[in-house]
Amino acid sequence: MSLSRTPFHSFSAAVTLVAGVALASAMAMAQTPPAPPPQGVPENAVTRVSEHVYAIVGNPNIAIVIGDRATLVVDTGLGARSGAIVVREVDKLTRNPKLFLTTTHFHPEHATGEQAFPAHTILIRPTVQQQEMDRRGAEFIDMFRGNSARNKELLQDVKLRTPDIVFDREMRLDLGGIHARLSWFGPAHTQGDETIFVEEDSVLIPGDIVQNKVVPNLFNEDATAKGWLNVLDKLEPLRPRFVVPDHGPLGDGSLIGKERAFILDLQGRAAELKRQGTPVEDAGRLLITEFKAKYPDWTGVDGGIPRGVRRVYAESQ
Ligand SMILES: [Zn+2]
Repeated sequence: MSLSRTPFHSFSAAVTLVAGVALASAMAMAQTPPAPPPQGVPENAVTRVSEHVYAIVGNPNIAIVIGDRATLVVDTGLGARSGAIVVREVDKLTRNPKLFLTTTHFHPEHATGEQAFPAHTILIRPTVQQQEMDRRGAEFIDMFRGNSARNKELLQDVKLRTPDIVFDREMRLDLGGIHARLSWFGPAHTQGDETIFVEEDSVLIPGDIVQNKVVPNLFNEDATAKGWLNVLDKLEPLRPRFVVPDHGPLGDGSLIGKERAFILDLQGRAAELKRQGTPVEDAGRLLITEFKAKYPDWTGVDGGIPRGVRRVYAESQ
């Protein structure tokens, strides 16, 4: 399957600065009716989000923050070919000599394009995320290779980089006229999720922690609903003007509350079914039907709900 060249949003081809209000309403319009999800990292799909922030709208979305002196790229896409597209798009936008790269978590579609970045790129990661990459990175790359012929091809010859900088909880980057705060708030979707807040532009790049109408993926035993809610607690006071989620259309700060409400709902219903003695597999099936009716425009229900139910069963008394 080739990478889609179709712009995802009606405004996604435009790289002109849109006034905040106009952009917000364009985003609202772009959310209805739902557009088909793009595949991978498309070329020529850059959208300007704010004065310093751009997004390549794809799956996942890639964020690019451009200061006077340095550029920060968040996530790489799947494999070297996706990473090379990101690098080309960055080169079209800026000639900044200093380039930082960070990844929101170790999952392959977010990190395995790093080998395509130029040698002088400064790769930054939370310590916990790097430990997780060391522990489970190869396992996940193998798993993704088995998902489709396209994934297998994109992940042919992955060479992971050693980070140049690791940080424990927080790191603030001065890009020249704009600052990015990189944070690790604890386990949620993975053990090592990182969120990025672009301070002056009030843009949140939350990785998989805040998505747009995508069922939160509590993938395996490294994911936690309680931890996820804890990270959302830390993000809420930032009150971001714009959110560039890893999956789903771009949105505003209200996405944080929507994510929280969904997880609380799932957590509450699953815990209730557990108390009633419902077997976990039955609870998963039941809640697929229930959540499809309640959240008709959310994607990922069939896989995400039973996985989430399993995690809530494991976490609740
Ligand atoms: Zn992920």
